[in-house]
Amino acid sequence: MDFRLTEEEQAIQAAARELARKEFAPHAAEYDRTHQFPRRNFDLLAQGGYLGMTLPARYGGGEAGYLSYTLCVEAFSQACATTGVIFEVHNSLHSEAVFNHGTEEQRERFLPPLCRGERLGAYALTEPNAGSDAAAIAATASRVDGGWRLNGRKVFITNGGEADEYLVYASSDSSRGSRGITCFIVPKEAPGISFGPPLEKLGIRASATTDVILEDVFVPDDRVLGTVHEGYKIALRTLHSGRIGIAAQAVGILQASLDNAARYTLQRETFGKKIADHQMIQWHLAEMATELEAARLLLYRAAWMHGEGIRATKEISMAKLFASRVAVEGTLRGVQILGGYGYMSEYPQERLMRDAKITEIYEGTSEIQRLVVARALLEGYRGNDS
Ligand SMILES: Cc1cc2nc3c(=O)[nH]c(=O)nc-3n(C[C@H](O)[C@H](O)[C@H](O)COP(=O)(O)OP(=O)(O)OC[C@H]3O[C@@H](n4cnc5c(N)ncnc54)[C@H](O)[C@@H]3O)c2cc1C
Repeated sequence: MDFRLTEEEQAIQAAARELARKEFAPHAAEYDRTHQFPRRNFDLLAQGGYLGMTLPARYGGGEAGYLSYTLCVEAFSQACATTGVIFEVHNSLHSEAVFNHGTEEQRERFLPPLCRGERLGAYALTEPNAGSDAAAIAATASRVDGGWRLNGRKVFITNGGEADEYLVYASSDSSRGSRGITCFIVPKEAPGISFGPPLEKLGIRASATTDVILEDVFVPDDRVLGTVHEGYKIALRTLHSGRIGIAAQAVGILQASLDNAARYTLQRETFGKKIADHQMIQWHLAEMATELEAARLLLYRAAWMHGEGIRATKEISMAKLFASRVAVEGTLRGVQILGGYGYMSEYPQERLMRDAKITEIYEGTSEIQRLVVARALLEGYRGNDS
């Protein structure tokens, strides 16, 4: 087994780290403070060829492997977790879904502007009464001449109001439950679509999380993604790969926390020596570093399997479950290592701690990841019994 990255993966990782270090990291605290959507960072991602980077070149993509993309989410999130999620939603939850489920005409029409950064993508599944239980969505799609009319309210939508294209999931036949959901590509310009104000959040504060309100929005047939009534499968399949991105975000945040905390221990002195020389501080660092490496290994395996087309439902959920947990625990340790300074906004540790928490919630909470892992695990045991 060879754990080394290929030359191409190393080159992509180095370039992403450089962009993140030079352009994203210096502004992360400011975006966190002002809650200003970092449009500048999105434009830099477009210029660098990172948007749609796994897609074929004929649609404007970069033809990079899935592991390379994962390395980029990690690098960008290490510098600025807000930028990490904007990038992840645009690529995994929107562009990749259009590629996987779109017709040739839709791919040619929608993907090039997404890859060039002229259009920003979003994913609108969650509703006030349908989060983990996504099949319970109440937004409706009624058949009309030449298309569909959408009504309903989506909540907590990343890139809300800032995005130009929304993958909206709505019930096209309520008698069929999850088998009666259809996915629509709805443009920001569609009459009847509106957005709530950006919600105030604990972390990833500049990522623009809003409600998306749909009032008699007409969507023509050529903006239906995939087969009518089969949108729920698209929603789940898309989240499946999106979870790799969130695990990568968690790993990036934890790496930033370890770097900051370790450097601090070599400067701060108490009782006549550097705090790095106190055994209990070393213990914290050792735990953080070990958990980080374990999370990274789970993540890279899941990303590699996904890229190779190997079924990885369990491995992806394990990676997200573990990486998000150790990111939350590790960033708390980071705050502890800095003592009172860790609690102050002047240092990045408290922001990292706030940013880490969301990785346990979106794209499937940790409880839902445990359900997925347990289901897959027990399937295997049941298979062995028979
Ligand atoms: C900042 C942010 C950005 C987001 N971005 C998007 C986005 O871009 N697009 C989008 O569609 N959604 C988005 N979401 C929504 C997110 O995916 C949901 O919040 C998440 O799936 C949980 O749903 P919920 O909030 O309704 O919680 P609920 O489903 O109500 O869950 C509440 C609690 O119950 C637990 N629980 C629920 N069901 C079970 C069960 N069967 N077994 C055990 N425990 C269970 C949950 O784990 C949780 O702890 C975002 C959310 C946030 C906070």
